[in-house]
Amino acid sequence: MSEYDVIIVGNGPAGLSAALYTSRANLRTLVIGKDQGALAKADRIENYFGLAEPISGCELVENTKIQAKNLGADLVTDEIFHISWNQDFTLEGREGSYRAKAVLLATGTSRKKADIEGLSRLEGHGVSYCAICDAFFYRGRKVAVLGNEEYAVHELAQLLPVAGSAALLTDGKELKAKVPEGVQVITKKIRSVDGEEAVTGVTFADGERLPADGLFVALGSAGAVDLARKVGALTDGRSIQVDEAMATNVPGLFAAGDCTGGLLQISTAVGEGAKAAMSMIKYVRRDG
Ligand SMILES: Cc1cc2nc3c(=O)[nH]c(=O)nc-3n(C[C@H](O)[C@H](O)[C@H](O)COP(=O)(O)OP(=O)(O)OC[C@H]3O[C@@H](n4cnc5c(N)ncnc54)[C@H](O)[C@@H]3O)c2cc1C
Repeated sequence: MSEYDVIIVGNGPAGLSAALYTSRANLRTLVIGKDQGALAKADRIENYFGLAEPISGCELVENTKIQAKNLGADLVTDEIFHISWNQDFTLEGREGSYRAKAVLLATGTSRKKADIEGLSRLEGHGVSYCAICDAFFYRGRKVAVLGNEEYAVHELAQLLPVAGSAALLTDGKELKAKVPEGVQVITKKIRSVDGEEAVTGVTFADGERLPADGLFVALGSAGAVDLARKVGALTDGRSIQVDEAMATNVPGLFAAGDCTGGLLQISTAVGEGAKAAMSMIKYVRRDG
Protein backbone atom coordinates (compact mmCIF):
# COMPACT_ATOMS: atom_id res chain seq x y z
CA MET A 1 0.00 0.00 0.00
CA SER A 2 1.36 3.48 -0.87
CA GLU A 3 1.90 5.66 2.23
CA TYR A 4 1.86 9.48 2.29
CA ASP A 5 1.69 12.37 4.75
CA VAL A 6 -1.14 13.92 2.77
CA ILE A 7 -3.53 12.53 0.19
CA ILE A 8 -5.60 14.92 -1.86
CA VAL A 9 -8.65 13.45 -3.58
CA GLY A 10 -9.36 15.63 -6.60
CA ASN A 11 -7.03 17.16 -9.15
CA GLY A 12 -9.01 20.28 -9.90
CA PRO A 13 -8.03 23.82 -8.80
CA ALA A 14 -8.64 23.16 -5.07
CA GLY A 15 -6.68 19.90 -4.90
CA LEU A 16 -3.77 21.03 -7.06
CA SER A 17 -3.49 24.36 -5.26
CA ALA A 18 -3.20 22.49 -1.94
CA ALA A 19 -0.57 20.15 -3.43
CA LEU A 20 1.67 23.12 -4.34
CA TYR A 21 1.81 24.14 -0.68
CA THR A 22 2.12 20.69 0.93
CA SER A 23 4.88 19.61 -1.50
CA ARG A 24 6.84 22.81 -0.92
CA ALA A 25 6.53 22.15 2.84
CA ASN A 26 8.23 18.80 2.19
CA LEU A 27 5.18 16.69 2.99
CA ARG A 28 4.91 13.45 1.01
CA THR A 29 1.90 14.40 -1.13
CA LEU A 30 -0.29 12.30 -3.42
CA VAL A 31 -2.98 13.80 -5.63
CA ILE A 32 -5.63 11.36 -6.88
CA GLY A 33 -8.03 12.37 -9.65
CA LYS A 34 -10.31 10.44 -11.92
CA ASP A 35 -10.67 13.00 -14.73
CA GLN A 36 -10.42 16.75 -15.30
CA GLY A 37 -13.45 17.69 -13.21
CA ALA A 38 -15.66 20.72 -13.85
CA LEU A 39 -13.03 22.50 -15.94
CA ALA A 40 -13.04 19.81 -18.66
CA LYS A 41 -16.10 21.58 -20.10
CA ALA A 42 -14.79 25.15 -19.71
CA ASP A 43 -13.46 26.27 -23.13
CA ARG A 44 -12.50 29.78 -22.15
CA ILE A 45 -11.38 31.00 -18.75
CA GLU A 46 -10.83 34.75 -18.62
CA ASN A 47 -11.77 35.73 -15.05
CA TYR A 48 -8.84 34.12 -13.23
CA PHE A 49 -5.84 36.07 -11.94
CA GLY A 50 -2.80 36.40 -14.24
CA LEU A 51 -4.33 35.42 -17.58
CA ALA A 52 -3.18 37.87 -20.26
CA GLU A 53 -5.19 35.79 -22.75
CA PRO A 54 -8.11 33.43 -22.01
CA ILE A 55 -7.14 29.75 -21.75
CA SER A 56 -9.14 26.57 -21.66
CA GLY A 57 -9.96 24.81 -18.38
CA CYS A 58 -8.05 21.71 -19.54
CA GLU A 59 -4.90 23.77 -20.21
CA LEU A 60 -5.12 25.45 -16.80
CA VAL A 61 -5.41 22.06 -15.05
CA GLU A 62 -2.64 20.43 -17.13
CA ASN A 63 -0.25 23.36 -16.44
CA THR A 64 -0.89 23.09 -12.71
CA LYS A 65 -0.38 19.33 -12.74
CA ILE A 66 3.11 19.91 -14.21
CA GLN A 67 3.75 22.61 -11.60
CA ALA A 68 2.72 20.24 -8.75
CA LYS A 69 4.85 17.38 -10.14
CA ASN A 70 7.85 19.70 -10.49
CA LEU A 71 7.46 20.62 -6.82
CA GLY A 72 7.53 16.94 -5.79
CA ALA A 73 3.88 15.82 -5.59
CA ASP A 74 2.90 12.39 -6.93
CA LEU A 75 -0.14 12.37 -9.17
CA VAL A 76 -2.18 9.30 -10.06
CA THR A 77 -5.35 8.63 -12.01
CA ASP A 78 -7.76 6.61 -9.92
CA GLU A 79 -11.33 6.76 -8.65
CA ILE A 80 -11.74 6.57 -4.87
CA PHE A 81 -14.72 4.59 -3.59
CA HIS A 82 -14.14 4.48 0.13
CA ILE A 83 -12.28 6.14 3.03
CA SER A 84 -11.86 4.73 6.52
CA TRP A 85 -9.92 5.81 9.59
CA ASN A 86 -7.84 3.74 11.99
CA GLN A 87 -4.93 5.84 13.33
CA ASP A 88 -4.33 6.90 9.69
CA PHE A 89 -6.72 7.19 6.75
CA THR A 90 -7.04 4.34 4.24
CA LEU A 91 -8.44 5.14 0.82
CA GLU A 92 -9.69 2.44 -1.52
CA GLY A 93 -9.76 3.04 -5.24
CA ARG A 94 -10.30 1.18 -8.48
CA GLU A 95 -6.53 0.81 -8.96
CA GLY A 96 -5.38 0.22 -5.37
CA SER A 97 -5.29 1.33 -1.73
CA TYR A 98 -3.50 4.33 -0.23
CA ARG A 99 -2.67 5.45 3.31
CA ALA A 100 -2.10 8.93 4.74
CA LYS A 101 -2.01 10.93 7.97
CA ALA A 102 -4.25 13.67 6.55
CA VAL A 103 -6.75 13.75 3.69
CA LEU A 104 -8.15 16.63 1.67
CA LEU A 105 -11.46 16.10 -0.11
CA ALA A 106 -11.44 18.31 -3.19
CA THR A 107 -13.72 16.38 -5.52
CA GLY A 108 -15.83 19.29 -6.71
CA THR A 109 -19.59 19.34 -6.60
CA SER A 110 -21.78 16.52 -7.70
CA ARG A 111 -24.02 17.42 -10.58
CA LYS A 112 -25.60 13.96 -10.73
CA LYS A 113 -29.02 13.69 -9.14
CA ALA A 114 -31.78 11.16 -9.51
CA ASP A 115 -35.11 12.85 -9.90
CA ILE A 116 -37.23 9.93 -8.73
CA GLU A 117 -40.49 10.39 -6.84
CA GLY A 118 -40.12 9.44 -3.16
CA LEU A 119 -36.31 9.35 -3.14
CA SER A 120 -35.60 12.57 -1.21
CA ARG A 121 -38.60 12.09 1.08
CA LEU A 122 -37.35 8.68 2.23
CA GLU A 123 -33.72 9.72 2.81
CA GLY A 124 -32.76 8.31 6.22
CA HIS A 125 -35.86 6.07 6.16
CA GLY A 126 -34.53 3.35 3.91
CA VAL A 127 -32.79 5.53 1.32
CA SER A 128 -29.07 5.53 2.16
CA TYR A 129 -25.95 6.97 0.55
CA CYS A 130 -23.39 4.78 2.35
CA ALA A 131 -23.35 0.97 2.25
CA ILE A 132 -20.52 0.56 4.73
CA CYS A 133 -22.31 2.83 7.24
CA ASP A 134 -25.78 1.30 6.95
CA ALA A 135 -25.41 -2.31 5.66
CA PHE A 136 -25.69 -3.65 9.22
CA PHE A 137 -29.29 -2.35 9.51
CA TYR A 138 -30.29 -4.56 6.58
CA ARG A 139 -29.00 -7.91 7.83
CA GLY A 140 -30.98 -10.64 6.05
CA ARG A 141 -33.28 -8.08 4.38
CA LYS A 142 -33.93 -7.12 0.77
CA VAL A 143 -31.97 -4.15 -0.58
CA ALA A 144 -31.29 -2.54 -3.94
CA VAL A 145 -28.47 -0.31 -5.18
CA LEU A 146 -29.18 2.54 -7.60
CA GLY A 147 -26.31 3.15 -10.06
CA ASN A 148 -24.65 1.80 -13.18
CA GLU A 149 -20.89 2.34 -12.68
CA GLU A 150 -17.98 0.92 -10.63
CA TYR A 151 -18.99 2.82 -7.51
CA ALA A 152 -22.43 1.12 -7.49
CA VAL A 153 -20.78 -2.30 -7.79
CA HIS A 154 -18.45 -1.41 -4.90
CA GLU A 155 -21.46 -0.51 -2.72
CA LEU A 156 -23.17 -3.73 -3.81
CA ALA A 157 -20.10 -5.72 -2.72
CA GLN A 158 -20.40 -4.19 0.78
CA LEU A 159 -24.06 -5.24 1.00
CA LEU A 160 -23.96 -8.76 -0.47
CA PRO A 161 -22.40 -10.53 2.55
CA VAL A 162 -24.85 -8.87 4.95
CA ALA A 163 -28.22 -8.41 3.22
CA GLY A 164 -30.59 -11.23 2.37
CA SER A 165 -30.62 -10.15 -1.27
CA ALA A 166 -29.29 -7.19 -3.24
CA ALA A 167 -30.35 -6.08 -6.73
CA LEU A 168 -28.74 -3.44 -8.94
CA LEU A 169 -31.09 -0.88 -10.53
CA THR A 170 -29.67 1.26 -13.35
CA ASP A 171 -32.81 3.43 -13.86
CA GLY A 172 -32.72 3.08 -17.65
CA LYS A 173 -28.96 3.63 -17.97
CA GLU A 174 -26.48 1.29 -19.61
CA LEU A 175 -24.60 -0.91 -17.14
CA LYS A 176 -20.92 0.15 -17.28
CA ALA A 177 -19.35 -2.21 -14.74
CA LYS A 178 -19.00 -5.95 -14.15
CA VAL A 179 -21.51 -7.23 -11.60
CA PRO A 180 -20.84 -10.35 -9.48
CA GLU A 181 -22.56 -13.47 -10.77
CA GLY A 182 -26.02 -14.16 -9.42
CA VAL A 183 -26.89 -10.49 -8.73
CA GLN A 184 -30.20 -9.37 -10.23
CA VAL A 185 -29.68 -6.38 -12.53
CA ILE A 186 -32.74 -4.37 -13.60
CA THR A 187 -32.13 -1.77 -16.28
CA LYS A 188 -35.71 -0.44 -16.49
CA LYS A 189 -36.54 3.18 -15.72
CA ILE A 190 -37.79 3.74 -12.16
CA ARG A 191 -41.09 5.57 -11.58
CA SER A 192 -41.00 5.84 -7.76
CA VAL A 193 -39.45 4.77 -4.50
CA ASP A 194 -42.39 3.59 -2.37
CA GLY A 195 -43.21 3.69 1.32
CA GLU A 196 -44.97 5.94 3.82
CA GLU A 197 -42.76 5.81 6.92
CA ALA A 198 -39.95 3.74 5.36
CA VAL A 199 -38.97 2.25 2.02
CA THR A 200 -41.10 -0.74 1.00
CA GLY A 201 -39.97 -1.10 -2.60
CA VAL A 202 -39.50 0.43 -6.01
CA THR A 203 -42.00 0.77 -8.84
CA PHE A 204 -40.66 0.78 -12.41
CA ALA A 205 -42.05 2.82 -15.33
CA ASP A 206 -43.86 -0.25 -16.69
CA GLY A 207 -45.72 -0.67 -13.35
CA GLU A 208 -43.74 -3.70 -12.15
CA ARG A 209 -42.74 -3.56 -8.47
CA LEU A 210 -39.62 -4.74 -6.64
CA PRO A 211 -40.11 -5.13 -2.87
CA ALA A 212 -37.10 -3.77 -0.93
CA ASP A 213 -36.41 -2.55 2.62
CA GLY A 214 -33.50 -0.34 1.61
CA LEU A 215 -32.30 1.59 -1.43
CA PHE A 216 -28.61 2.58 -1.59
CA VAL A 217 -27.90 5.46 -3.98
CA ALA A 218 -24.50 5.19 -5.73
CA LEU A 219 -24.83 7.22 -8.91
CA GLY A 220 -21.72 8.04 -10.96
CA SER A 221 -18.61 8.27 -8.77
CA ALA A 222 -18.40 8.70 -5.02
CA GLY A 223 -18.64 12.46 -4.53
CA ALA A 224 -17.05 14.43 -1.71
CA VAL A 225 -20.22 14.24 0.39
CA ASP A 226 -20.46 10.45 -0.07
CA LEU A 227 -16.79 10.03 0.92
CA ALA A 228 -17.13 12.43 3.87
CA ARG A 229 -20.12 10.53 5.25
CA LYS A 230 -18.14 7.27 5.20
CA VAL A 231 -15.76 8.63 7.85
CA GLY A 232 -18.43 10.43 9.83
CA ALA A 233 -17.85 13.99 8.61
CA LEU A 234 -20.78 16.37 8.85
CA THR A 235 -22.44 17.41 5.61
CA ASP A 236 -25.04 19.95 4.76
CA GLY A 237 -27.09 18.89 1.72
CA ARG A 238 -24.55 18.61 -1.09
CA SER A 239 -21.69 20.36 0.78
CA ILE A 240 -19.19 19.29 3.42
CA GLN A 241 -19.23 21.32 6.62
CA VAL A 242 -15.84 22.92 7.33
CA ASP A 243 -14.54 25.56 9.74
CA GLU A 244 -12.49 28.62 8.75
CA ALA A 245 -9.34 26.43 8.52
CA MET A 246 -11.14 24.09 6.04
CA ALA A 247 -11.19 21.34 8.70
CA THR A 248 -14.14 18.96 9.00
CA ASN A 249 -15.29 17.58 12.35
CA VAL A 250 -13.06 14.50 11.76
CA PRO A 251 -9.45 15.17 12.88
CA GLY A 252 -7.11 15.04 9.88
CA LEU A 253 -9.90 15.33 7.30
CA PHE A 254 -10.14 18.60 5.37
CA ALA A 255 -12.25 19.80 2.42
CA ALA A 256 -11.86 22.58 -0.13
CA GLY A 257 -13.34 23.92 -3.35
CA ASP A 258 -16.78 23.41 -4.86
CA CYS A 259 -17.52 20.55 -2.41
CA THR A 260 -17.76 23.05 0.47
CA GLY A 261 -20.42 25.12 -1.34
CA GLY A 262 -20.37 28.92 -1.61
CA LEU A 263 -19.01 30.70 -4.69
CA LEU A 264 -18.25 27.94 -7.22
CA GLN A 265 -15.32 29.61 -8.95
CA ILE A 266 -11.66 28.76 -9.64
CA SER A 267 -10.37 31.59 -7.47
CA THR A 268 -12.38 30.39 -4.47
CA ALA A 269 -11.26 26.79 -4.98
CA VAL A 270 -7.59 27.82 -5.26
CA GLY A 271 -7.83 29.97 -2.11
CA GLU A 272 -9.54 27.25 -0.10
CA GLY A 273 -6.98 24.70 -1.32
CA ALA A 274 -4.15 26.92 -0.05
CA LYS A 275 -5.88 27.41 3.30
CA ALA A 276 -6.53 23.66 3.68
CA ALA A 277 -2.88 22.94 2.84
CA MET A 278 -1.65 25.21 5.63
CA SER A 279 -3.98 23.40 8.07
CA MET A 280 -2.78 19.98 6.88
CA ILE A 281 0.87 21.02 7.26
CA LYS A 282 0.15 22.06 10.84
CA TYR A 283 -1.82 18.88 11.51
CA VAL A 284 0.84 16.48 10.13
CA ARG A 285 3.71 18.24 11.91
CA ARG A 286 1.86 18.29 15.22
CA ASP A 287 0.99 14.63 14.75
CA GLY A 288 4.70 13.85 14.27
C1 LIG B 1 -18.77 24.54 -17.93
C2 LIG B 1 -18.13 25.27 -16.76
C3 LIG B 1 -17.47 26.45 -16.96
C4 LIG B 1 -16.87 27.14 -15.88
N1 LIG B 1 -16.23 28.32 -16.11
C5 LIG B 1 -15.62 28.96 -15.09
C6 LIG B 1 -14.91 30.19 -15.32
O1 LIG B 1 -14.85 30.70 -16.44
N2 LIG B 1 -14.29 30.78 -14.25
C7 LIG B 1 -14.34 30.23 -13.00
O2 LIG B 1 -13.74 30.80 -12.07
N3 LIG B 1 -15.01 29.06 -12.76
C8 LIG B 1 -15.64 28.43 -13.77
N4 LIG B 1 -16.33 27.24 -13.52
C9 LIG B 1 -16.37 26.72 -12.14
C10 LIG B 1 -15.05 25.99 -11.83
O3 LIG B 1 -14.80 25.04 -12.83
C11 LIG B 1 -15.13 25.31 -10.47
O4 LIG B 1 -15.51 26.26 -9.48
C12 LIG B 1 -13.76 24.73 -10.08
O5 LIG B 1 -13.31 23.83 -11.08
C13 LIG B 1 -13.87 23.99 -8.75
O6 LIG B 1 -12.67 23.38 -8.46
P1 LIG B 1 -12.61 22.07 -7.53
O7 LIG B 1 -11.17 21.70 -7.46
O8 LIG B 1 -13.35 22.32 -6.29
O9 LIG B 1 -13.44 20.95 -8.31
P2 LIG B 1 -13.27 20.33 -9.76
O10 LIG B 1 -12.59 21.27 -10.68
O11 LIG B 1 -14.62 19.83 -10.16
O12 LIG B 1 -12.29 19.10 -9.54
C14 LIG B 1 -12.74 17.96 -8.87
C15 LIG B 1 -11.74 16.85 -9.07
O13 LIG B 1 -12.14 15.72 -8.27
C16 LIG B 1 -11.94 14.51 -9.01
N5 LIG B 1 -12.82 13.49 -8.45
C17 LIG B 1 -14.16 13.55 -8.23
N6 LIG B 1 -14.60 12.42 -7.63
C18 LIG B 1 -13.51 11.64 -7.46
C19 LIG B 1 -13.31 10.34 -6.89
N7 LIG B 1 -14.31 9.63 -6.36
N8 LIG B 1 -12.05 9.83 -6.90
C20 LIG B 1 -11.01 10.54 -7.42
N9 LIG B 1 -11.15 11.78 -7.97
C21 LIG B 1 -12.38 12.31 -7.98
C22 LIG B 1 -12.19 14.89 -10.44
O14 LIG B 1 -11.47 14.01 -11.27
C23 LIG B 1 -11.59 16.31 -10.48
O15 LIG B 1 -10.23 16.23 -10.71
C24 LIG B 1 -16.94 26.58 -14.58
C25 LIG B 1 -17.60 25.34 -14.38
C26 LIG B 1 -18.20 24.69 -15.44
C27 LIG B 1 -18.90 23.37 -15.20
